Amino acid sequence: MTNYPRCAECRVDRDKRACGTAAGSGPAFCPTRNAPETIETATEQYERPEVKEFARQASIQEAECYSDRETGGHPVKPRFVEICEFARKMNYERLGVAYCAGLTREAYTLASALQDRGFDVASVVCKVGATPKEKIGITGDEKVRQHQPENMCSPIAQAQVLDEADCDLNIVLGLCVGHDSLFFQYSEAPVTVFAAKDRVMGHNPLAAVYTMDGYSRWMKQPKE
Ligand code: SF4
Repeated sequence: MTNYPRCAECRVDRDKRACGTAAGSGPAFCPTRNAPETIETATEQYERPEVKEFARQASIQEAECYSDRETGGHPVKPRFVEICEFARKMNYERLGVAYCAGLTREAYTLASALQDRGFDVASVVCKVGATPKEKIGITGDEKVRQHQPENMCSPIAQAQVLDEADCDLNIVLGLCVGHDSLFFQYSEAPVTVFAAKDRVMGHNPLAAVYTMDGYSRWMKQPKE
């Protein structure tokens, strides 16, 4: 596939893009130009009432995160408020927090704050079940603390325990790369992210992007 989509590399002026206006244009790899049938089929999904309502409320919430919208908009709501307001719009009463054991204090604070806002809050740590890493074939060399007993992260169990607790919306707090992928895959309740794990960047991976021309030059020269 030569013209696979690469929107991040698009250099068409924003107000002249195919994804901005019907008369707009896009480069050879433009998915708006190249994938009309896929886009049409995907858009049909919004005809399902529950999907349409979810998307509609998310879009309303998006707009309400700005003040002064008549004059261009000014962002005013942190993600915590955005999550609470969206959950209210959806009439969600019980929220699940799927968190990393390394963020136990943060999980307590987040759960307490959500409870203060009137939600029921279930929370499940990544190490739930205390399943040894040997279960998935991890060797002593491959552990964080090499050759010590160590339990695996169990994102599938996190998702299923939260689903059994009848959570309406699950919130991910700092799950590892890949463990979060499994959580997204297995959670039956919709999932949103409160924080993405980044052990070095204070769980703000974009800090490395914002400082890529300075202290984060290593991003351009991967050490892998
Ligand atoms: S959809 Fe097309 S026009 Fe829009 S950013 Fe992607 S490549 Fe550019």
